Amino acid sequence: MARYLGSKCRICRREATKLFLKGEKCFSDKCAIERRAYIPGQHGQRRRKISDYGVHLREKQKIKRTYGLLERQFHNLFKKAENMRGVTGSNLLSLLERRLDNVVFRLGFSVSRSEARQIVRHRQVLVNDRKVDIPSLLIKPGDKITIDPKCQEHLRIKAAVEKASSRGIPSWLDLDPAKLSGVFRSVPDRSDLPADINENLIVELYSK
Ligand code: SF4
Repeated sequence: MARYLGSKCRICRREATKLFLKGEKCFSDKCAIERRAYIPGQHGQRRRKISDYGVHLREKQKIKRTYGLLERQFHNLFKKAENMRGVTGSNLLSLLERRLDNVVFRLGFSVSRSEARQIVRHRQVLVNDRKVDIPSLLIKPGDKITIDPKCQEHLRIKAAVEKASSRGIPSWLDLDPAKLSGVFRSVPDRSDLPADINENLIVELYSK
């Protein structure tokens, strides 16, 4: 599966907000947004008026990039959300939260979603005690996600868990830090997710 290999900080600067794509660096004063809070490129510091379409597009790009998806993957997920019962925007957010790479990140087994994706691709994660190497797998309520016992001593994973303990675990997950194992208790409600996401703009964009 294709993936973005360019600079992650450049993405944050393009969206003019911190998307927390690089783990610890994002919480330090080395964060590129702290140092250069303007759009990258030769004309990045120019003031420009953003069109209505631009507002919709930027919101879609921001969410897509936060979860580390490319356009086709994101659009396919949107189609899935549209075909589900309920509100499309909320469905989309719950599908994004249910992705295995996101759950691994939320449980604190990695410092970023891209690292979570790598851990999954390297077959270091078990879902319901079976090895899984598909980052886009949709986790269901009650599923157990564990770091393979053979990989539990990996320094990278241990360091991530240590850092995540200060970050906190979302209410829809249960974590057993000693066993490096967690349970996806339920699909998060819209109210559990950040209020600064405007998923309605994405729905409107794809409906145009
Ligand atoms: Fe974004 Fe993190 Fe880079 Fe800051 S350090 S610009 S939050 S990826």
